[in-house]
Amino acid sequence: MALLISLSFSSQAQRINGELVMKHISFLSSDELGGRGTSTAEEIKAAAYIAREFKGMELQPKGTSAYYYDFDYTYNAKVHDTSTIGLKVKRGRNVLGYIDNGRKETVVIGAHYDHLGYGYDHNSMDPNPIGKIHNGADDNASGVAGVIELARYFSSNGITENYNFLFMTFSGEELGLIGSKKWCENPTYPLSNINYMINLDMIGRYEADKKLLIYGVGTSAEWISNIEKVNKTFAIKYDSAGIGPSDQTSFYLKNIPALHFFTGQHNDYHKPSDDISKVNVAGEAKILELIIDLVYQLDNKPKLGFLKTRDAESTKMSFKVTLGIMPDYIFDGKGLRLDGVSDNKPAAKAGLQAGDIIVQINETNINDIQDYMKLLNTFKKGDNATIIFLRENEKLSTQVEF
Ligand SMILES: [Zn+2]
Repeated sequence: MALLISLSFSSQAQRINGELVMKHISFLSSDELGGRGTSTAEEIKAAAYIAREFKGMELQPKGTSAYYYDFDYTYNAKVHDTSTIGLKVKRGRNVLGYIDNGRKETVVIGAHYDHLGYGYDHNSMDPNPIGKIHNGADDNASGVAGVIELARYFSSNGITENYNFLFMTFSGEELGLIGSKKWCENPTYPLSNINYMINLDMIGRYEADKKLLIYGVGTSAEWISNIEKVNKTFAIKYDSAGIGPSDQTSFYLKNIPALHFFTGQHNDYHKPSDDISKVNVAGEAKILELIIDLVYQLDNKPKLGFLKTRDAESTKMSFKVTLGIMPDYIFDGKGLRLDGVSDNKPAAKAGLQAGDIIVQINETNINDIQDYMKLLNTFKKGDNATIIFLRENEKLSTQVEF
């Protein structure tokens, strides 16, 4: 009897259904969806799935054609994609659903649903990516599942909040935040009436002994204190920058306070092995619960004030060279700890391994990831550098060629 009571009590408190989160990730990251490359038939299938979910919840369509927001973009096709060499115009498709609470202002919750498809776009970390399905379970079926289930919660909770909700899933993120940028340039809802934006990109790999990352907390003075008020679950690492490697950037650049929730880098990042078997659904559900609590924490407050943040050091698109490493964004010690090393890239060729901590490159001390990114911008292809690193407390040195 006691067990029955506690079971029914806990299910009552649960506002996110993990099985549904799993169902969305499972479909979106299945081989049938072909890795959801931007402007592919498989991506269109994913869009149709999301639109069907929004329709089932009776969200209002907020695209240009029902739930769809189609946009054209020019794409500098790479040689591997033999069907499209040179500058081509392609069409992408965002999917938007709206909850009208009859209020003046709106909360935006978004996630990109495109990924790397069959590895044609040069964003893969696999040494031979062409033709392999990049399922993108964490990146970013996890975020899309989050948007769908948050939409379900806010549309079925029987509460009329003090803000409306706009749920958006973006195409073209992996090619450079194209879908979110296009919408912000030509929006279907006035930008001046958006209170704030929450972006979910890679929220499927939460590990209890690691921190949850929240980027963009410098975009409003009110973020951190309000997150701290409702967070009882996570150790959180905050980053203030409004500009980051995902779609919150497009909103930040329009002076809208914007956050990015992120469970961190891993060895399967941008590889065909980013599969559903490695997703922590219970962890994701807890993140979504935190977001619900945050939305309510802010619901009785006026529209958030916007702040410009320090300039982000860089985004993932801006480097001329790469070491081929996955930084450990959550590492708190001195130096840059490697979460992973890609095969056949400069770091691997120089003998660096996951777990190594880079503390110096040439004459420059590397205290954190910002130091590293700043320095990386100064190298070009063919340059050599000496890397000093720690491996199990031993100080070692190696030569790398970019
Ligand atoms: Zn992503």
